[in-house]
Amino acid sequence: MARKLAVIGAGLMGSGIAQVSAVAGWEVVLRDITDEALSRARDAVGASLGKFVAKGKLAEEQAEAALARITTTTELEAAAEADIVVEAVFEQEDVKRDLFRKLDAIAKDGAVLASNTSAIPITKLAAATSRPEHVVGTHFFSPVPMMALCELVRGTKTSDETLAAAREFAESAGKTCVVVERDVAGFITTRLISALVMEAVRLHESGVASAEDIDAACRLGFGHTMGPLATADLTGVDVIMRATENIYAETRDEKFSAPELMRRMVEAGDLGRKSGRGFYAY
Ligand code: NAD
Repeated sequence: MARKLAVIGAGLMGSGIAQVSAVAGWEVVLRDITDEALSRARDAVGASLGKFVAKGKLAEEQAEAALARITTTTELEAAAEADIVVEAVFEQEDVKRDLFRKLDAIAKDGAVLASNTSAIPITKLAAATSRPEHVVGTHFFSPVPMMALCELVRGTKTSDETLAAAREFAESAGKTCVVVERDVAGFITTRLISALVMEAVRLHESGVASAEDIDAACRLGFGHTMGPLATADLTGVDVIMRATENIYAETRDEKFSAPELMRRMVEAGDLGRKSGRGFYAY
């Protein structure tokens, strides 16, 4: 019998996680709060699967079967039958904690409750449930169908069985896992990218170098595919600033305090590609 996955939040990440899991044979129920979000997600998954078919990486029938394995709903109760529930709603601690509290009442015994959070300690989300040993971080990367990594995060009380089940799930969806053994804000990847982006912004704001030259230094000198300021524009200047502020709130480490230039850009609505202007004009 196919294993069952529930994905809560049908945005960019939730729809990607639903897609790769359905391709891998999981029966997926995808939940969001509005029908519009669900229909956008279904379209996004269909379009992405279509690209894999066009490139010859997936047969037409496999794409159709994957799409047929995804059902959408606005009812959270649909998570009741899932073996694994992956939460991918907004990066807001109160929203996520509220969801974990509800999932605790709904999910079946033994289900793995996973979060795709980029920076919030898993232990804080686990504490909203009566089963912290079943809560784990499964941090996928964007775009999910393309990026190979899944960062697994062990909360203070996460059991070995839960971590193993999360690994098996992520590997079944074609990902390679790294394990964050101690539950720090930002884990490995958000910690590193935040530190790099904040320092790049400071170099830029203090007139040391242009955005173009800072990015070129990282691309050509370090072999990065994209420079830190172009990465901030792609991710959303506001998104990376918020993730960094979450790390600062936990660590009080000044390197994670958002530079003035970044705060002003967010206030001015210069959020990167999505607003047409960030460190670069689009
Ligand atoms: P998004 O804004 O694209 O999607 C979030 C979705 O959650 C929206 O469709 C919203 O309607 C829905 N939602 C909000 N509350 C809900 C609830 N109670 N029940 C069901 N749905 C609800 O966000 P995203 O970029 O997909 O990010 C989701 C999570 O993944 C965040 O925690 C984020 O930090 C993390 N993440 C994002 C990226 C990225 O590059 N965007 C990468 C890695 C991790």
